[in-house]
Amino acid sequence: MLDKVVIANRGEIALRILRACHAMGIRTVAVHSTVDRNLKHVAMADESVCIGPAPSSESYLNMPAIIAAAEVTDAQAIHPGYGFLSENADFAERVEQSGFVFIGPKADTIRLMGDKVEAIRAMKAAGVPCVPGSGGPLGDDTATNVKIAAEIGYPVIVKAAGGGGGRGMRVVHTEAALANAIATTKQEAKAAFGNDMVYMEKFLENPRHVEIQVLADGQGNAIHLGERDCSMQRRHQKVVEEAPAPGISDEQRAEIGRVCVEACIRIGYRGAGTFEFLYEAGRFYFIEMNTRIQVEHPVTELVTGIDLVREQLLIAAGHKLSIKQSDVVLKGHAIECRINAEDPDTFMPSPGLVTHFHSPGGPGVRVDSHIYEGYRVPPNYDSMIGKLIVHGATREQAIARMRVALSEMVVDGIKTNVPLQQRILADGGFAQGGQNIHYLEKKLAERKDKALSVI
Ligand code: ADP
Repeated sequence: MLDKVVIANRGEIALRILRACHAMGIRTVAVHSTVDRNLKHVAMADESVCIGPAPSSESYLNMPAIIAAAEVTDAQAIHPGYGFLSENADFAERVEQSGFVFIGPKADTIRLMGDKVEAIRAMKAAGVPCVPGSGGPLGDDTATNVKIAAEIGYPVIVKAAGGGGGRGMRVVHTEAALANAIATTKQEAKAAFGNDMVYMEKFLENPRHVEIQVLADGQGNAIHLGERDCSMQRRHQKVVEEAPAPGISDEQRAEIGRVCVEACIRIGYRGAGTFEFLYEAGRFYFIEMNTRIQVEHPVTELVTGIDLVREQLLIAAGHKLSIKQSDVVLKGHAIECRINAEDPDTFMPSPGLVTHFHSPGGPGVRVDSHIYEGYRVPPNYDSMIGKLIVHGATREQAIARMRVALSEMVVDGIKTNVPLQQRILADGGFAQGGQNIHYLEKKLAERKDKALSVI
């Protein structure tokens, strides 16, 4: 087993990784920026190393500083969490070249999945259903591109091969707008991602976001842990996630899960991963694979009873998967609300001092958060300050428990999105389940209109 792990992240996920390590008897090294000295997991870690000033470019993205921290503490492995360097193939490579274990897939796998054109090509070859599209990068010849778009059928979406975070995409409704849209997306992609390669897909108008969690040991074994529905989004950011996805049958789950597992084995996947799909009219369309642990992993943990971070650590230590597909049994329903330090109406970040904090509790309630009374939320990073996750025997029970848990949650001194989450949990459409990825934005726009007419 590993005996010491560097946690190359911050906030709730750093704490989550620390808890998994300590429960397995693995010692931990927290690396943190100067403004993050007071993070909860820094106090709990066996050792801590300051790796640089507040800007993440100089700390959490500072590869030599993180690798040096592993060297000076004599650690064996580095867990990247999510965000920051977690999907940086060069980092994974440098970690391994320096003699440490990177807790994640091989660098080549990360590189493959980071190039969306190549990722789609690989997935298609592995039998994963993809969105109808160009199947490769677009050239500069307008006539050819017009032909491709006509074959796919409008509307189409032009996407950057190196894109991420919901950026570098443009929807095109007519032939007249196509050439210009491709040129502009190329320019933007070059500026934002240093790579002007773009491709084209059918634009699905009302899809849901449904993703499949997988675990693979890189030694020929892989399983899936069912799906999550992450359709409640604002600006392509997930707000509420749940498992299982409403309305997905056991047969559909088994089929898409089998396809993902086969793809994992075919590409020699290692670690935890997520196949993201758009789901429309009963069909799955692959959009990308995330080669790391995800924010919303706890909903899968609650319905399967499997500790995903523990599995990541076991796989990284070279163990074969000990869980068989037949051991994975989904039980009940889980929902996660992301708790952000932000204004619930304007979405402006709201950093500052937490003067009071009361955490909800009770049966089936889990709080993954690093905040405490007296903690100051710095303005430098993502505004997520925790996640509230509930489990119930049914979706209705999970919703009821989430409503109570949200009402118990007190975070004073800063603004949070708890009131927004309460409105979502009280919404009839949410209670119905299975809404598409535009639902939340539409609801927010309606609310804004109403407020304006009242004024
Ligand atoms: P990123 O890596 O930037 O998150 P994705 O490929 O995952 O990019 O797409 C992000 C989001 O953009 C999706 O969740 C979906 O809302 C929208 N999107 C992407 N491709 C399509 C498509 N073909 N049709 C409709 N919406 C799409």
